Formats: sequence, structure tokens, C-alpha cells
Amino acid sequence: MTRVRQALRFAVDPTDAQRHTLARHAGTSRYASNWGLARVRAAIDARQAGDPTARGPSAMALHREWNAWKRSPAGIPWWTEVSKCAPQEASRDLERGLRAFGTSRCGERPGPRVGVPRFEKKGRSRDHFRLTGAVHLHGRAVTLPRIGPVRLCEVAAHWGDRIAAGTVRVTSAPVSREADRWVVALAVEAERAIPATTGACDTIGVDLGVLALATLSEGTVLPGPRALRRGLRTLRRLSRAHSRKRRGSRNRAKAARRLARHHARVAALRRDHRHKLTTTLDKSHGRIVVEDLNVRGMLGNRRLARSLADAGFAELRRQLAYTCGWYGSRLVVADRWFPSSKRCAGCGVVKAELAPSERAIRCDVCGLVRHRDHNAAINLAWWADHRAVTASAAETQTACGADARPGVSPADRGEAATGIAPEPTGSTGGPPAAVACGAA
Ligand SMILES: [Zn+2]
Repeated sequence: MTRVRQALRFAVDPTDAQRHTLARHAGTSRYASNWGLARVRAAIDARQAGDPTARGPSAMALHREWNAWKRSPAGIPWWTEVSKCAPQEASRDLERGLRAFGTSRCGERPGPRVGVPRFEKKGRSRDHFRLTGAVHLHGRAVTLPRIGPVRLCEVAAHWGDRIAAGTVRVTSAPVSREADRWVVALAVEAERAIPATTGACDTIGVDLGVLALATLSEGTVLPGPRALRRGLRTLRRLSRAHSRKRRGSRNRAKAARRLARHHARVAALRRDHRHKLTTTLDKSHGRIVVEDLNVRGMLGNRRLARSLADAGFAELRRQLAYTCGWYGSRLVVADRWFPSSKRCAGCGVVKAELAPSERAIRCDVCGLVRHRDHNAAINLAWWADHRAVTASAAETQTACGADARPGVSPADRGEAATGIAPEPTGSTGGPPAAVACGAA
């Protein structure tokens, strides 16, 4: 049994009074975050003005200050009505945001630049807060501290039983509002039986694309959700209706709600599609090879951007990276410079030119004609089996560097959570199948 971190998302169906309480908690969280940020900014200004002792307070110090301040005459008389967790967790998030900004600015943090935390504004920022402490899940309700039992939109008996049995532990309960629906996403540590292998020992190349979300080296084409495109006409209609309403009017507020609901629905469709795709891939293949796509660079291309965002490449990759480990499969990220599209999968010759508009590859050497994405997928599978020995170190590194690490202890991380299961040995090895694949 390995402990993995995961999130259990539940849409809840609160009573009117509970809705009010939830909104109040979100408001407190926002208020505390802004209150803390104002203090941090004041400290920064003082230091810039020449006071070397001025330092931005830590989350702990902020929380202590907040507790003293809220009771003072200048404080907030309504502090007793909300859980103390909401402002406490807001201070922690603020500290994390400031640290991310600091390390990003001095180059210690990989990835895109992180900006300085900003003030949140009611109606502009997402309504959210986080609770810790005694959170219980029963068949049809989740019990939150200070808020009490809130009805769920679904039956969660399975997870409730596991929490009661102690095989799943709730670490925190982030709550947020999506359009007019409140969602509780329990962050849990769950014990999972992780198989050493999926049973399948094949290597499958997956080419992520815009026209087809994924093309597998075995030839299967998995269409994308296209949820946004399908809903685009509705979206256009709703947003036009919204912009026509007079500012500040009730009709405008109503139109805004309709628009937000539609956005939330599209997001849910995408999420669902992504989960199903990654799980199907993870469960049925021994090794999954994907391209190291520069998604940020591609999003710069505006015409591609909508389809790309729809496909949610980055999120797909992130999910593959951590769910692979749950089912005993491995995720391999091919080298960024490997020419998976331009290489002929039949003879291995790399073409000098392949325009993005060319949907098929035509090899001048062996005469092979094959769909571009399928060819790329076969090449990816080939790469995983035939790359130089030194590449295995890089592979481990890439897998370890993936954003999501569900494993709890470092040992867990190394073993399974990042998808680095031990190499299958002996006759169960992957290469023969993949060689056949590459030659097909
Ligand atoms: Zn060829």
C-alpha cells in the first residue's frame, strides 16, 4: 500500500443559510488576504524608505497579528461568526505566493515568471477559502467545521467508508464557488494498492494534436472534447446578451450568471474528458511516451490557441504524470529535439521539411505514406525503446520533475508516485512489441 495525495471533488447542495455562511467565509478569506498583503506592502515600502529592520511578516506572524487585531476596537466584530481556518489559510496562501514571487524573481524557481500577489476584489476574484480540522464525509453529506453538514449532489458512501476506516485521511478542505455552485474539493492522502506493472508491457506512443486530441502508435485516433467549440455559439450568444444589458442592472447580473454557468459547464466537460482519457491510457499500457511540447510557446499562436486550450495539453500531461504511477504504467517524455513528426517511421530517414499544413508524411526514400500524427506516435514509441542508454537518466529526471507528486514520502515518490515503476524484466520487456510497431 502506498499513500498518495489526491483531491476528491464534490459539488454540494447547501441550504440558503449555508450559502450565506459559505459566502461569508469566502469574504473573510479575501479580507484577510488583502489585510495581510497591505501589511507586507507597508513593510516593503518602509524598507525602501531606508528602514533596514522592516521585514515582511511570515504567515504565522500575520495570523498572530490578525488574531490580536480582530478583537481590538478597530477590528472586525463579526470574527466570531466564521471559522478561524479561513483567515489562517489565507495568510498561508499569501506567504506561499510571496515566496513564489521571490524565488521566481531571483531565478531559483523554474517555469514561467510569477507575479507579485495582488489584492482580491469582491466579484472579480474567485470566491474560495480553505478549512482544516475535523472534516467528515458521510453517504450524502460533508461536515465542515463551523458550517456543519452540507448536502452533497452525489452519494459518496465509498469514500466516506474509507475515511471512517482510516485508509483515507483528509488533510484540508478547499471550498470554492463555480458559477452558482459550491464545490468542496477534499485534499486527501489515500492508501492505494499500486501494481508493479499494468499487466501490459507494451510501449505506446501518444501524439497530442489539435485536430485529434491524441493519436496512438497502434493507430487509434482519440477525438478531442471540442466542448468549447460546440458550446461556442451558446457562449457567443450569452456574452452578447450580457454586454447589451445596462451596467449595474438586475438583468445584467442575471445574464452574467447564465454566462458563468455556461463556462463552468464547459470546464466540467473538459475535465471529465481528460480524466477518462488519461485513465484509459494508464490502465491499458505498460509505457506511455509523449512529446515534450512547448505548450506556452504554442499558445502564443492565436489561431491554434483555442483548440489547444480546449485540449488542455499541459493539464493532460500533468495528469498522466501522476496517474501513471497509480496503475503501474510509466510515463516517458521524449526529448524536445527529437524530430517525431519529420522522421519516417518506416526507414528512419528524417525529412528536411514538413510544413504544418501537410497532414501526411511522404517518404522519398522508402515510399511510405502515412498520416502525420500516426507517424509521430510510432516514432515516439520507437524513441523510448531505442534511445541511447544515457537517456534513461534524463527520463528519470523528467518524470521526477513533473509538477504533480502524489507520493507522500520521498521513497514513495521514487517508487511509484511519479510513474517510475521498476523496468519490466526478462521476457516481459517492451522492446519486441515496439520494434514491430516501429516497422509496421
Ligand atoms: Zn522512409
